[in-house]
Amino acid sequence: MQTIRGFRDILPEHIRLWQKVETLAYELFAAFDYREIRIPVLEKTQLFARSIGEATDIVEKEMYTFEDRNKEKLTLRPEATASICRAYIQHKLYASDPVRKFFMTGPMFRRERPQKGRYRQFYQIDAEVFGIASAFVDCELIFLLNELFTRLGLTCLTAHINSLGCPDCRPAFTQSLLGFLGEKKQDLCDICQRRMTKNPMRILDCKTQTCQEVLAGAPATVDHLCPACEDHFHTVKTTLQKQGVDFFIDKSLVRGLDYYTRTAWEIQTTALGAQSAVAGGGRYDGLVAELGGPDTPAIGFAIGFDRLVEVMEQLEQLPEEPGLDLFIVALEDPAMEMAYHLSCDLNQAGIRTGTDFRGKSLKALMKRADKRNARHVLIAGPSELKDKALILRNMVTREQTTIPMDQLVPALKKILQTT
Ligand code: ATP
Ligand code: MG
Repeated sequence: MQTIRGFRDILPEHIRLWQKVETLAYELFAAFDYREIRIPVLEKTQLFARSIGEATDIVEKEMYTFEDRNKEKLTLRPEATASICRAYIQHKLYASDPVRKFFMTGPMFRRERPQKGRYRQFYQIDAEVFGIASAFVDCELIFLLNELFTRLGLTCLTAHINSLGCPDCRPAFTQSLLGFLGEKKQDLCDICQRRMTKNPMRILDCKTQTCQEVLAGAPATVDHLCPACEDHFHTVKTTLQKQGVDFFIDKSLVRGLDYYTRTAWEIQTTALGAQSAVAGGGRYDGLVAELGGPDTPAIGFAIGFDRLVEVMEQLEQLPEEPGLDLFIVALEDPAMEMAYHLSCDLNQAGIRTGTDFRGKSLKALMKRADKRNARHVLIAGPSELKDKALILRNMVTREQTTIPMDQLVPALKKILQTT
């Protein structure tokens, strides 16, 4: 049996970098007062179709959608924002406190062509803020991402920032874009030709070479901002500059989801070939109301966890697993029973203890202790059991001590908790 195409296992040998990222991210989220939320992996299809947008790549061709036995259409979540909005509305979280700061991590599903940095089940680390319209929240999220990547030692990343405007300035921009594309329509790909009527802004996000060529010199959203959006974007830029956060104004950045307004950004790397974005985010001030909630400004980002780990893998060796405090080499049956009870007792006391119940030779078990990076080995063979004294070997200094069996637990606790 094999995994499905685009799905993969992440084995214990590779998990250390994932854990390192999670630990640092959780610390940072806690410091900035974000709280964890967990949402289902399966939702009604309508939730994603309505929020992400019918004319987007995700909804048009990437969603895992199926009919349940009762004919209801369900979809494996392709992203987290829509579900978190649903939760915010469903539980009326706005009623007691409209300001909510969430984070979460978990798998997302998109049926794309699998390649390095692109999987059908992939993981995201997600943060969302509800109820604050201020540009300082935009800055906080970009700063938080920047801080996380700095703490991870990643210097090969650049923030690309744009402003997409709001419903007030969008129509003027769309008119200007359609005017620009007017005579060039036949040079666009089929999908973009359809986008001209369905959702012209999506054309800016088209990855095909010919469309990219047509788009050279196209009008930009930043040149059509209303005074309020202009002001908002100005605050974002000047605040980040003051903090020394590096960024690049990318007029062509539109992001692949329809709900974005005002600030949108991507963190890009040159380390992964075509899969350049390791994180993306943006403001979505209209989405909560669109999904049936009260008018609520909101903003968030998603980090592509798999890609982030791939960038880190290129830069560093996998961090070493923390070794065991003790490995008990138990040679025969009475020793094995003793080893079983002793390892449970020591683990209960917080001493990381391993053993092996296969009845292998001393040599084989010493090898295993080494492989598990044990700092100490306790040898319990028939002769040690007969003498009622076991040998403890410090694997670093090679020193050996003999410990009487009736003092085993307190003696080991004393030695292992201090060395
Ligand atoms: P891309 O342009 O690479 O398709 P996207 O705009 O579709 O990315 P988002 O919806 O913004 O991606 O998701 C946020 C992040 O999740 C991306 O920046 C990327 O790092 C990661 N990501 C998206 N799709 C995949 C995938 N299929 N496999 C792995 N990571 C992904
Ligand atoms: Mg995509």
